[in-house]
Amino acid sequence: MTLSPFRRRALTLAAVAVALPALLLAGLAVLLTLRVVQSVERDTIRYNSYLGQQVAEAFELELMGQLRSAIGTADKLARDGDPLADITHALATEGRDFNGPHFVPVDDLPGYSLLMAEGQPLVYAPGEASHREQYFCGLLLRDGDGAVIGAGGWWVDPRRFLGKNFDYVLHERMPTNPRLYGGIELTRRASIEVLDAHGQRIARLREPGDLRTSRTEPMQGPFENFNVRVAVSPDSPVVWTGRFLAFELAFIIAMGLVVVIAVAFGYRYTVRQLELAGLKAGFVSNVTHELKTPIAMIRLAVETLEMRRFSSPEEEDKFLGIISRETQRLTQLVENILDFARLEAGRGVFKFARVDVRTLVADAVESLQPRLDHLGFRVEMDLPESLPTTRADPTAITHCVLNLLDNAIKYSRQQREIRVMVGQREGWVEIAVADRGIGIAPGDRKRIFEKFVRLENGLVHDVRGAGLGLSLVDQIMRAHHGRIEVNSTPGEGSTFTLLLPVDRDAPEQEAEEQAPTGT
Ligand code: ADP
Repeated sequence: MTLSPFRRRALTLAAVAVALPALLLAGLAVLLTLRVVQSVERDTIRYNSYLGQQVAEAFELELMGQLRSAIGTADKLARDGDPLADITHALATEGRDFNGPHFVPVDDLPGYSLLMAEGQPLVYAPGEASHREQYFCGLLLRDGDGAVIGAGGWWVDPRRFLGKNFDYVLHERMPTNPRLYGGIELTRRASIEVLDAHGQRIARLREPGDLRTSRTEPMQGPFENFNVRVAVSPDSPVVWTGRFLAFELAFIIAMGLVVVIAVAFGYRYTVRQLELAGLKAGFVSNVTHELKTPIAMIRLAVETLEMRRFSSPEEEDKFLGIISRETQRLTQLVENILDFARLEAGRGVFKFARVDVRTLVADAVESLQPRLDHLGFRVEMDLPESLPTTRADPTAITHCVLNLLDNAIKYSRQQREIRVMVGQREGWVEIAVADRGIGIAPGDRKRIFEKFVRLENGLVHDVRGAGLGLSLVDQIMRAHHGRIEVNSTPGEGSTFTLLLPVDRDAPEQEAEEQAPTGT
């Protein structure tokens, strides 16, 4: 029995009513968190880019500053007429790094660039031959008429310049220059690196923390091809915020998943319990009916016999037959119920013994023969000449076979033919019961092994049953490390096959020396 569409819809609505707001809230929280992350990242990137440009500019200003300090000397020496010696002296005493001053006539500067910075002309050019990787940086002195009266400068190795002046630029020049806002920046625990064209680090202030928000700004002038990379340092609040937000995001997603899974489980559990409750109610009424009908028939037959209300010995046999068949059915039903109760309570104890399945099956069919004959069934038996033995509880397996035969009888219409086959297949002994009855739809082939389940087909109301037989057979087979399989074509018939593991320690048994059922 399945849940009514109305109850199922109500349950689904309840599940959706619980899950949807939770998911919406989680989704909203995720969105808000992502927006916060994005906004923090955007601001950090903007700030890092700005700081990178400031640092690059600070290096250019530092170079200019150092060059300008040379011009005073040049000025004086221009008057004295010996600029080169004094420039050399001035630069040497100030301890600057240089390879010697160079006089560069302005007119001889093909391919050199001229850069105006803070009103001063700065000349720089790539070094050649002996000064590869270096730039000549110098200042030109002109008189009022624009004539060059002197020049001073030196070859700068940008890599060395940047490395050597890094700390000074960051800690002295930037904090003291109001244009660079350096004092403020450095308190924000930024990581600042100067990189060469290959990305190799020349100097660094603090380890970078989160590189996703880092920005690399190009340098100019003699520092062309060098870059300043600014990132947040590992202990900066941005990194902590990022970690916290990532954790929060993971937490929200995990909570959302937990809610969905809990609701899905709750939904399935409730549906199952309600279905089970319905099935149990059906089971009680089925069993009541199952018990009452044979008892009524037996009572009627007994009364008829007691009062001798039969006219011939054949009629007497008929009533005795009714008593026998109905007693058999009652026995089977009661056994099913008792077995079921035992297995449900976990008290299903099986007595295993070596079993010759052929004998067991033949006995089971024989015990049902009167009923089969009475209902006009033709039974075909296919027993092999030899068969491996199996270890099983003979009573339980007989019970399984009787249940399959009972179903084959109950669910057949006009085609009253049953085939019982015993054989072996890859380490299994198999018992198959095939009928030509109503068959089972593919979608129902799993469900029929659940307890209390009876399919809602045309016969279920005409045919007696408690919905316990196949569930019991399935449980018994599992306890034997075996299984039950079903093959069926709706409208044409079904074959149920029991598979029991072969007892590998026992010899094969020949047809002639059939062992009794169980030893
Ligand atoms: P019951 O026969 O008492 O209803 P079972 O557990 O033996 O309970 O079977 C469960 C259901 O499986 C039956 O109600 C029936 O719908 C279906 N079924 C079982 N055996 C057959 C069969 N041989 N042919 C068609 N349907 C079957």
